Amino acid sequence: MSATLERGMNAFRQVLDAPIASFFSSCVHCGLCAEACLFYTETGDAQYTPIRKLEPLRRVWEQEFTVLGKLKKLVGLSQAVTDEELAEWSPLVYDSCTMCGRCSMVCPVGNDLTYMIRKMREGMSAAGHAPEGLITATQRSVTTGSPAGVKWATVQAVVKRVEKENGFSVPVDQANVDYLVLMSSWEILNFPEYLGAVGKILNQAGATWTISQAAYEATNSGIQIGSSDLAREIVSRVVNTAEKLGARCVISPECGHAYTAIRWDAPNLMGRPLGFEVKHILEVLDDLRQSGRLKLKGGLDKPLTYHDPCQISRRGGVYEQPRAFLHELAPQFKEMNDTGTMNWCCGGGGGVSANERAEPLRMKVFKKKKAQIEELGVKTMVTACANCRVVMEEALEHYNMDIEVLGLTELVAEYMVEDDKS
Ligand code: SF4
Ligand code: SF4
Repeated sequence: MSATLERGMNAFRQVLDAPIASFFSSCVHCGLCAEACLFYTETGDAQYTPIRKLEPLRRVWEQEFTVLGKLKKLVGLSQAVTDEELAEWSPLVYDSCTMCGRCSMVCPVGNDLTYMIRKMREGMSAAGHAPEGLITATQRSVTTGSPAGVKWATVQAVVKRVEKENGFSVPVDQANVDYLVLMSSWEILNFPEYLGAVGKILNQAGATWTISQAAYEATNSGIQIGSSDLAREIVSRVVNTAEKLGARCVISPECGHAYTAIRWDAPNLMGRPLGFEVKHILEVLDDLRQSGRLKLKGGLDKPLTYHDPCQISRRGGVYEQPRAFLHELAPQFKEMNDTGTMNWCCGGGGGVSANERAEPLRMKVFKKKKAQIEELGVKTMVTACANCRVVMEEALEHYNMDIEVLGLTELVAEYMVEDDKS
């Protein structure tokens, strides 16, 4: 047994907790999870059935934690998991799973397959079978705090541009503020207007806020690759900075997995409650709207739809807030079929967009979103995750579709009532 395989097997044994054991023993092999998974519906390939993606982990559970499995192994009816098998399974665990959570919604016995895949990635990365793109992104996250390797100098350039365009100063490392504003790599590199929009809205609402040189990104590749140790190291940068600055709330940006990392995983990774609240930017905007500190003027008069980022809507519960804004802003807002908690993923979440070898499959499975858009006939998509936005822009280009993709926070900033603080 090679050292890496041994590490992987040990990681599998460690993650095999009571919920996973009960999920494996409860499976009735109905196949419903396949019909919920984009990678199966768009390819018709049975290897993409969610429960099948977990087969090596299931065998370790059966062989080491059940009497029947021990007997089967003893008489040669069940083979030990090998390094070659894990290599073969790597594309199933990383390339064809966005950890979107849709399969977990439909399983009749309540198996949380997404939780299981997240845990299986712990063993796969320990065994050296994570994809190259994710390994590089995670290394950069640990050394720079950014999976794309964004340095503070790049953020400073964005800050200067935002200040020039908006006429306000961007506070840096201000203590005792209402909000610590985080960004994702995509927002810094592709959508710097996000920071301008957030600043404009918070200033209008009379809130105090800051960004920080010590923690400007919320993205966490440790979660995606499946390494709790690295995920903890990456998230602790944000937690320690927010607590040191005395920020009352950390705003997770328009990034799905960042929200999962800082909102849901961070307290477990740190092993303690956080000394601040965590909210997605849409939750903050909705709070401000409901308290009358953010008012909209409407006027977005064109047909558009909303793409629910899986980690924000289905996994995060933030699906009513964007709709409250869109109904008020855009009278021609239309819902896609299968929306809200049963939305279809863009195909690039869970680290798939950082995994170059997954690109052809990602383009293939985008056919589902393509069909949803074509059915509605809209030319404008709104979303609240910069990763979804980039993934959809690339795929729309690939399919020669002339559709614009907009960030909801920027739309709110553009259509809010200014200088009315009454
Ligand atoms: S989490 Fe999503 S992508 Fe992954 S197996 Fe389940 S349905 Fe498929
Ligand atoms: S939906 Fe649940 S019970 Fe059915 S095959 Fe998938 S994991 Fe097993």
